[in-house]
Amino acid sequence: MTIEKTFSIVKPDAVKRNLIGTIYQRFENAGLKIVAAKMLQLTKVQAQGFYAEHEGKPFFDELVDFMTSGPVMVQVLEGEDAIVRYRELMGKTNPQEAACGTIRADFAISLRYNSVHGSDSPVSAEREIGYFFAADELCPRS
Ligand code: GDP
Ligand code: MG
Repeated sequence: MTIEKTFSIVKPDAVKRNLIGTIYQRFENAGLKIVAAKMLQLTKVQAQGFYAEHEGKPFFDELVDFMTSGPVMVQVLEGEDAIVRYRELMGKTNPQEAACGTIRADFAISLRYNSVHGSDSPVSAEREIGYFFAADELCPRS
């Protein structure tokens, strides 16, 4: 087992519905520790850069509009195998395909408004953490 860090966003649809605490409780119940967190209103340029891998796809502009439609919470989660475990905790991208008891199955509204983001690999986690946090903003707790 490896202690990893992964990057998470509570997306605007969930912040608007006052689900920050409920979703943070899911992280903590799963044994993932929050080691950095802040609320941000993303700019269009920030959202486009964050989701650069999806540039050119049919849903890209809608995704950027959604991610800039209200504040988000960004956080770094730490724990054993945190990257894969957090992806499992979130559930599949489309909430209709997400397993029962996952965050997306329980809270997502649709494929676009799906409440949370999580890094999909160690390379993504490193890039995404660095996109929003300086090294001295992380407070390792293990
Ligand atoms: P994730 O890693 O599970 O978040 O999924 P992706 O990296 O594939 O997509 C990024 C985000 O774009 C998703 O979480 C959705 O909010 C959105 N998205 C992905 N696919 C679609 C799609 O086909 N249509 C729409 N409207 N949004 C999508
Ligand atoms: Mg992704």
